Amino acid sequence: MSQADGQVLDDPSAHDWRLLSGGRLTPAAGDARYDVENPATGGSLARVPDASAADVAATVQAADDAAAGWAGTDVRERAAVVRRLADVLDQHVEEIARLDSLDGGFPLWMMRKDIGTAGDRMRMFADWALHLRGETIPSSTGNVHFTERVPFGVVARIIAYNHPGMFGASKIAAPLVAGNTVVLKPSDLTPLSALRLGELWAEHVPAGVFSVVSGSGVETGDALVRHPAVRRIAFTGSPQTGRAIQRAAAESGVKDVSLELGGKNALVVFPDADLDAVVEGAVKGMNFAFAGQSCGSTSRVLVHADLAADLVDRLRQRLEKVVMGAPFDDGVTMGPLISAAHRDRVAAHVRTALDEGARLVCGGDAPAGGGHYYPATLLDGVEPGMRVAGTEIFGPVISVLTFRTEQEAVDVANGVDFGLTASVYTRDFDRAHRMARAMRAGYVWVNDTSTHFIGMPFGGVKESGVGREESMEELLGYTQVKTYNLVLR
Ligand code: NAD
Repeated sequence: MSQADGQVLDDPSAHDWRLLSGGRLTPAAGDARYDVENPATGGSLARVPDASAADVAATVQAADDAAAGWAGTDVRERAAVVRRLADVLDQHVEEIARLDSLDGGFPLWMMRKDIGTAGDRMRMFADWALHLRGETIPSSTGNVHFTERVPFGVVARIIAYNHPGMFGASKIAAPLVAGNTVVLKPSDLTPLSALRLGELWAEHVPAGVFSVVSGSGVETGDALVRHPAVRRIAFTGSPQTGRAIQRAAAESGVKDVSLELGGKNALVVFPDADLDAVVEGAVKGMNFAFAGQSCGSTSRVLVHADLAADLVDRLRQRLEKVVMGAPFDDGVTMGPLISAAHRDRVAAHVRTALDEGARLVCGGDAPAGGGHYYPATLLDGVEPGMRVAGTEIFGPVISVLTFRTEQEAVDVANGVDFGLTASVYTRDFDRAHRMARAMRAGYVWVNDTSTHFIGMPFGGVKESGVGREESMEELLGYTQVKTYNLVLR
């Protein structure tokens, strides 16, 4: 199947969306389909395949059949295939970005950047192909002892809805370069770009080496996790689903599971900080272009009490400039939330916070009309014991908390179940280092927020996950060490 880009975009509802399974573009069994919604309108956008457990089994079987051949392919050839996929992606940045804007509601300018990032990361892993090295170890005299890094076989790659195309593209590169075959499962809410990548990439990758399965509920992902041929699962999503996956994995075999989960990330502001930079950092860190739907969002601003009133006022002025609107409209800096249910959840979190004594500074009321919009919202007077202080809202809501001493800042910043990112604003060099060390988080910025630097490991501690991505650790994480001892006679 091949359709011109324009046809896909002009009317996604008329496009014949298909799974990529065993190298073939195919409907789900019985042509089962489900509706994908446009969050900017609430209307239906497309009907996509609803893969059953049987569809998943057939896809994994084909991926397993292809695994030995792919593992035996020269690593430079595997890297060349990944580079080719990145080239194809580059040729379709506009199309993939538009699909993400359509089914995710994210502003188009942001999705163009997101997809550009995916190509860069794919090439980074391709460039690292020759770093898949073992070691020689002088373990005994006269004999030869060495290790190799070998792939797992079939990797299940399950991703969240908030960077559909970027995750769909960039997170398949490391497992492929490492010699695994990959079955990608996009979010049920935002499957279009991954399905389109399946169409675009099908002719550039051997049959079964890369597959895409979409599905409406837990069945598709659960079947993938439980399939006996799937020994390596890499998941990006919520802590609740992460735990469900760990359970399902444990019930179905001994499996290697990495988890990139949620965050309730602190941005700590000391009295010597540059407040202009803090305000910009807080807005950048909150990822309003994703309506706050980002794991790394700095949703807790933890400020020294002497600065709190000034900072809250400056943040309010800045948040009032966030332009909420449809993802394709000029000047829009924040789109809708992903679904009506999620918007209602965000609104409920804010109501609970107000009931518990927080003060609403701005935002807080969802506009009437179509689309799942919720405004940039600022809560002041949040105390560590309130539910809003420890729960990932995954919406455009910043909570402001205060501290008096450095130790109190550390205790409050670390006093949540999550540990994904942290930001510290200070001009004091010693304090910057002390605080950065003290933060129980996987990724720390000083005088900055949010930016992912290419090659730097990203991932969380505590409920935020296990494993590291975007880095050499990700590439090596798709291998197992195999040990050889050669006795010389
Ligand atoms: P989610 O957990 O609801 O869904 C994630 C994926 O899991 C989707 O593809 C979904 O269809 C699938 N899924 C759902 N139930 C499943 C099951 N039982 N077995 C297998 N797969 C299943 O998450 P979401 O709402 O799409 O994403 C939001 C969450 O993701 C937030 O918590 C956010 O912080 C987190 N996230 C983390 C990172 C990171 O890098 N740490 C990045 C992005 C998002």
